[in-house]
Amino acid sequence: MKAHDGMYIDGEWRAGTGNTTISVVNPADEQTIAEVPAGTAEDIDAAVRAARAALPGWAATPPAERSVRIAALRDALAVRKDELAETITAELGSPLPFSEAVQVGLPLKVAGSYADLAASYPFEEKVGNSTVYLEPVGVVGAITPWNYPLHQIVNKVAPALAAGCTIVLKPAEDTPLTAQLFAEAAHDAGLPPGVFNLVTGLGPVAGQALAEHPDVDLVSFTGSTAVGRQIGATAGAAVKRVALELGGKSANVILPSADLATAVSRGVANVMSNSGQTCSAWTRMLVHSERYEEAVELAAAAAAKYGDRIGPLVNAKQQQRVRGYIEKGVAEGARLVAGGPEAPREKGYFVSPTVFADVTPDMTIAQEEIFGPVLSIIRYEDEDDALRIANGTVYGLAGAVWAGDDAEAVAFARRLDTGQVDINGGRFNPLAPFGGYKQSGVGRELGAHGLAEYLQTKSLQF
Ligand code: NAD
Repeated sequence: MKAHDGMYIDGEWRAGTGNTTISVVNPADEQTIAEVPAGTAEDIDAAVRAARAALPGWAATPPAERSVRIAALRDALAVRKDELAETITAELGSPLPFSEAVQVGLPLKVAGSYADLAASYPFEEKVGNSTVYLEPVGVVGAITPWNYPLHQIVNKVAPALAAGCTIVLKPAEDTPLTAQLFAEAAHDAGLPPGVFNLVTGLGPVAGQALAEHPDVDLVSFTGSTAVGRQIGATAGAAVKRVALELGGKSANVILPSADLATAVSRGVANVMSNSGQTCSAWTRMLVHSERYEEAVELAAAAAAKYGDRIGPLVNAKQQQRVRGYIEKGVAEGARLVAGGPEAPREKGYFVSPTVFADVTPDMTIAQEEIFGPVLSIIRYEDEDDALRIANGTVYGLAGAVWAGDDAEAVAFARRLDTGQVDINGGRFNPLAPFGGYKQSGVGRELGAHGLAEYLQTKSLQF
């Protein structure tokens, strides 16, 4: 893999000020594929200064022109789509067809949606005797995770650009090569120098320096709830805007009238996708006691079929963590019906697709986010019981409801404390707001709601 040995700041690749690097490891074979520079607080400061200097010009650029640049960015990403997919497969481990269709396909759509929105969004509105201007928040510090490395970057950078903000990105340690390719695309798209800047580096060093930088106006963070809480506290102390997309423990609620076979097979597929490293995965399957054993058998058979088709987890630490959760599930009395804690291969950070039955709502595996291919099947007795279990975690990111008809599923979904719910297998919509209730986060990404996060209002009275 080709890696840049510098940071992308003020429209050029320049050497970082530190003298350490981060090794990028292919999780399928544990080989080091590249080294990237570990950014320092000085690198972050240089990037923030470049973003600040570029802000007045970009904020004043007419939205139609910003739209043209975002469309050019989308096109520059599209030109690199094969290289992006191969890079994501190499540094994250997701199987190549998944990298092509989802890891790259989805962000191309999202980038396109913000090219459209920049051109059509009402940045000015009349309210009685006032004119309200929706202005860019300013300099954005974007901190992203590794699980959908390109998607998480585009989710932040595209709406920020559409709003007229300038950006400093600190991507995840495990997937910096995707971020470097993104920076190349941003350069080719003709963004003015300083509008987009990239600093690779460690979370507690470069990430923290970005989150704490006094000249950053908004910190947009996607990652773990633990780090999100810290970033929220820092932002709160500085009275600055913050957007947090955090963890989840979503419920897949199968009501008695549902088509059980479809609901179970789609539920298993949802959890195993991206090796379970999806914050919105439906990792708790809730089934009525009368259909419980049938669902368990179907889920175990579906998981067993995944076998070798599942990719590795991103790194050794995640693999250890997930295997620890599986051991904990067994220790707390859940019944293992597929997979288990043993590593299925000698090389690579693989974990077997795992299904637990007889999971009770208070078990660790029913409460904590595992971020691996592990499904917990929980029994309920009636709808109120199902609702209590579904809402009974600190999270509220996503979920699914299956029923004989949409109206019944919708009535249940409206009672869920969660940000988005798929009704009878509803498709992902890249224009619909994405974000969490409760400890799953603050703010929304995607579509017009995602754009609004990067705007602040000014009203003039006449
Ligand atoms: P993480 O919180 O460890 O890291 C995320 C990012 O934060 C990385 O870029 C990391 O370098 C940086 N970081 C780490 N410590 C930091 C600090 N002290 N200050 C500033 N930045 C710091 O999370 P992860 O392990 O990379 O990702 C997995 C987690 O992300 C899961 O909990 C998952 O649910 C969550 N996630 C949420 C969403 C969502 O949209 N809600 C999407 C993807 C992942």
